[in-house]
Amino acid sequence: MSGNESRIQAIHQITNREPVHVSMPEPLDKVWASNVFNLSRMEESLSKTAFKSIKKTVQSGAPLDTLTAEVVAAAMKEWALSKGVKFFSHIFYPMTNITAEKHDGFIVTNSDGNAITEFSGSLLIKGEPDGSSFPNGSLRMTNAARGYTAWDPTSPAYIMETDNGATLMIPSVFMSWTGEALDKKIPLLRSNVAMDKAAQKVLTLMGETDIATLNSSCGAEQEYFLVDSNFANSRPDLLLAGRTLFGAAPAKGQEFDDHYFGAIPARVQVFMQDFEDQLYKLGIPAKTHHNEVAPGQFEIAPYFEAANVAADHQQLMMTLMKTTAKKHGFLCLLHEKPFAGINGSGKHVNWSVGNSTQGNLLDPGSTPHDNLNFLLFCGAVIRGVHKFGPLLRAAIASAANDHRLGANEAPPAILSVYLGDQLEKVFKDIQAGKITSSQSGGEMDLGLSQILNFERDPGDRNRTSPFAFTGNRFEFRAVGSSQSVSGPLVTMNTMLADSLSWIAEKLEPELQKGTARADAVLIVLKELMESHGNVVFGGDGYSPEWHKLAVEERGLKNIPTTADALPALREASVIELFEKTDVLSPVELESRFEVYAEQYILSIEVEAKLVINMAKTLIYPAAVSYLSELSTTATSMTNMGIELDSSITKTIVKESNAMMAGVAKLSSAIEKHDFVSTEEHMQFCANEIRSLMDEVRAHADILETEVADELWPLPKYQEMLFIK
Ligand code: ADP
Ligand code: MG
Repeated sequence: MSGNESRIQAIHQITNREPVHVSMPEPLDKVWASNVFNLSRMEESLSKTAFKSIKKTVQSGAPLDTLTAEVVAAAMKEWALSKGVKFFSHIFYPMTNITAEKHDGFIVTNSDGNAITEFSGSLLIKGEPDGSSFPNGSLRMTNAARGYTAWDPTSPAYIMETDNGATLMIPSVFMSWTGEALDKKIPLLRSNVAMDKAAQKVLTLMGETDIATLNSSCGAEQEYFLVDSNFANSRPDLLLAGRTLFGAAPAKGQEFDDHYFGAIPARVQVFMQDFEDQLYKLGIPAKTHHNEVAPGQFEIAPYFEAANVAADHQQLMMTLMKTTAKKHGFLCLLHEKPFAGINGSGKHVNWSVGNSTQGNLLDPGSTPHDNLNFLLFCGAVIRGVHKFGPLLRAAIASAANDHRLGANEAPPAILSVYLGDQLEKVFKDIQAGKITSSQSGGEMDLGLSQILNFERDPGDRNRTSPFAFTGNRFEFRAVGSSQSVSGPLVTMNTMLADSLSWIAEKLEPELQKGTARADAVLIVLKELMESHGNVVFGGDGYSPEWHKLAVEERGLKNIPTTADALPALREASVIELFEKTDVLSPVELESRFEVYAEQYILSIEVEAKLVINMAKTLIYPAAVSYLSELSTTATSMTNMGIELDSSITKTIVKESNAMMAGVAKLSSAIEKHDFVSTEEHMQFCANEIRSLMDEVRAHADILETEVADELWPLPKYQEMLFIK
């Protein structure tokens, strides 16, 4: 389709859009986890001994033996076959933000040509995709391309149904032939082990005797945009970059605050129901959904689960959101900032650690000041965020998230911790060496007899903090919407492991001296707060005063771009952190730096090429057509003795020329390849390329407001943002 034809057609088509028909949802108990090979399914089909053994592995990471793996594989196959499944696949999580899978049939034929099904323990335990086809940074050697996938029994296998079949999916780790992690799951599992080890030490010193394996938990709130696919199909930027590279501000945006928690449009409700039904079958506990701040923006949050399972489920959710949206005539945008000037999307990663014997160690109870275990764990987090702030920033760094962080709508690019009034006071008292008490939130009394009074939370919420305590967990709010949650979880678990080890080292000699436990804890936490209390901040994280105070007086770092953030992965303290906790070897860490840097550079280059292409082939032609129309009209008017105002013509000429001059500069900038280091290349992308892209866009966006609407080829913000 040429010119604006597809845009006009899109407007026609969406005017008559009806919600896609989906059948009424089945009762929850019928669909819940019906496609998951979980523990209760294993219990039904395995011998008592085999079940006991696999359950121990799943729940506390006990070693798995080959015999059990064989039995589980057989049972898994039988279950899948009985549900009509013919293929299986290891699903793994390379260093991209998406998943990878390689499907194999259960079938083999015997010499009579009869089909038999074969699936042994060894096939379950190990698979072999080509390691060189996935990002591996410095681990890439073309002559050593072998990569292995291996079954992770702690994340349940499931059946993925599509319109034309069903596949048994087996969550797996992915490593090189030499055993280096090439994925996001291995470090996550290792970080949990490191955290458990350090936590066990601290809890033992605190006099606990029965201590079950500790696990980290994660509940991730996912924000996303839906755009009608008729519009999306006319926007190469949305299709290829996931965000609009051009687009003038709409007359109406989010300024009326009328979208957040507003009524969900019918089409979107139907989409959500369809999507959530699929999640329930896969045992993913979808719990909350609502509109978000921006028009066309929504959120879904499942109930929290063990971090490793939550990370797999989160990934699966992102995949399903996109495919289901497509069925409903939407493009689902997980990009952090699809529309300039409109709120972007994040993923709040709620995180806590606990076990079955001590419970959630980040639960303060009603009197946190005398909950010593809580104080130690919470203090450990404070120390971690202070000591490894730049690393946390690196863990959420991406070309896309750079548009959002620090843009006065999302958490700033300075890592600080919000504790809430009650806890902030407790920790301040501790820092001052005082015995402290816990203020309560008191009773909420509206003075209306028909409304019940209730207990108020002891602290308010703070939406401007990147890392906030929210009652019984921390919420890492600066994570990008399109990101895998693994990186942030690995970082949090590992920094916690480091802090807990430090605490254990300080606590032990104190206790040996005979200091009472409560006093020893106070001494250790006082020292901790003196060195790290600077990171605690309860005020407005968006304010310029904070940016100044944080950097100038508190010594915190403001790290605006990925180019500034990723070098943290090469810092000696970070290399040491990951090495001593056995989460990532120096080689594995370096490979991650290289992979993420390359992804950053590539995504900016792709966008720059798109900017050039769209400016030249879509926007410039529209401007020139309009000029030609205007000049024809002006000539005939002049012949009739009428003088038309020429200001529009002049603006269009000026802006078109300026846009094309920007395009020329951008085209030569992306030809530059002689960089002395990856760091320099990233800085060039962050500073030169990005600003040239902005320059081209600024002129193009003026043209959008000047050129006749009927000639404009790209669906406009006001058309795309308001779902009909
Ligand atoms: P809000 O938008 O108010 O922050 P939501 O209810 O949308 O809250 O999301 C909160 C998320 O935090 C949910 O996924 C929830 O299951 C999760 N969560 C609750 N408690 C914990 C916990 N102890 N550890 C980790 N995640 C938790
Ligand atoms: Mg939240």
